[in-house]
Amino acid sequence: MYSYQRSSALFRKAKEFIPGGVNSPVRAFNAVGGEPIFIKKAQGAYLYDQDDQIYIDYISSWGPMILGHNPPEVVACIKKQLDCGVSFGAPTELEVAIAEKIISRVPYIEQIRMVNSGTEACMAAVRLARGVTRRQKIIKFEGCYHGHADAFLIKAGSGSATFGATSSLGVSPSVARDTLIAGFNDLASVRSIFEAHKDVAAVILEPITGNMGCILPEAGFLEGLRNLCDRYGALLIFDEVMTGFRMGFGGVQEMYKIRADIAVYGKIIGAGMPVGAFAGSREIMRHLSPEGGVYQAGTLSGNPLAMSAGMALLDTLASDREIYVRLDRKTKALAQGLRQALKGKVPFQIENIGSMLTVFFTSNKVKNFEDARKADNTHFKTFFHHMLCHGIYLPPSSFETWFISDAISSSDIEKTLEVASRCVFER
Ligand code: PLP
Repeated sequence: MYSYQRSSALFRKAKEFIPGGVNSPVRAFNAVGGEPIFIKKAQGAYLYDQDDQIYIDYISSWGPMILGHNPPEVVACIKKQLDCGVSFGAPTELEVAIAEKIISRVPYIEQIRMVNSGTEACMAAVRLARGVTRRQKIIKFEGCYHGHADAFLIKAGSGSATFGATSSLGVSPSVARDTLIAGFNDLASVRSIFEAHKDVAAVILEPITGNMGCILPEAGFLEGLRNLCDRYGALLIFDEVMTGFRMGFGGVQEMYKIRADIAVYGKIIGAGMPVGAFAGSREIMRHLSPEGGVYQAGTLSGNPLAMSAGMALLDTLASDREIYVRLDRKTKALAQGLRQALKGKVPFQIENIGSMLTVFFTSNKVKNFEDARKADNTHFKTFFHHMLCHGIYLPPSSFETWFISDAISSSDIEKTLEVASRCVFER
């Protein structure tokens, strides 16, 4: 059993100086109770906390650490770049190289613009869609999270779902009116919005969700969205901040062979540095400034340190043909093992695809946010704290996905399953 004296002392101090003691809400453990652990360092599959305890990491910094922490090839590139300078505010060869690398391997995209976060990328993607279509409204899905720009904080997932009713506080009602909410895996709800509103610029979604837990699109759902967007003249935006370079290099577009008009990236594209990006056809991207009239800019966008880290990681992902096979195999083994480990204890569902996985404590299949919300949070809390205090670090909310990294070994998985099998739930 772990104990957390130093983390606890740090959290008390943090709360004096930082709102809620954290710089991003989900880290505060509010959904699971207790206090966050403070991390001192990370290596490979492991996190080390301030009380010198070790954890198998299933968050992977919420996605970017697909190879595990501090992969030597990424660290070497960052160190090399440090000697040449951190930010120039002028174009670099690296930016051209990373854009070319991505475009040559991800289907349907011809140009890409780098920004500094997933939020920024989603925000710019929607502005671009509005600029291209000259329409105002967007359709988003209940439980999907696209960062914390105003337009997305309407029935959003992730930390915003965890913090419930207050998630739209501060968002102007006029902005909120332009965000129309549909149900994930519910094409009829999208169709009826299109019928009622002729000025829909874009449909934005996580094509495989992570922010209400890992939920898969049902057969025909993504194709149906593509068709509806074509029929009603709206753009389809895939938010691949989690799934990009994780569901294979080409993300969900490649996996399901569905073309989005704009694809949004984050997390892996920066290998742990602050990066986001959005991409599309030349025809759509030419509307961006300085070529077109849709303004978008950033002092640190495409900064060389982040680009060199991202390039090193993408190089590895593109050259190691087996990596996605390994990730898939590990995640399936974990899912299968968890089904055994939790069998007969309490009702649960495990959803997994590629290297994403969520355990929902509910007896019904989870197809949308409504289903995810029915999952038993008391069981989740019990499971989370049992795992944590035995050295397994899971996302501290049931509205999140686990991210499996390539650094996780079969003995890490065995240990995880052994700990899970010892979890005792209250009935
Ligand atoms: N879109 C998705 C699907 C995300 O999961 C996230 C963050 O988790 C974002 C957008 C926002 O990205 P960021 O936190 O980098 O602003």
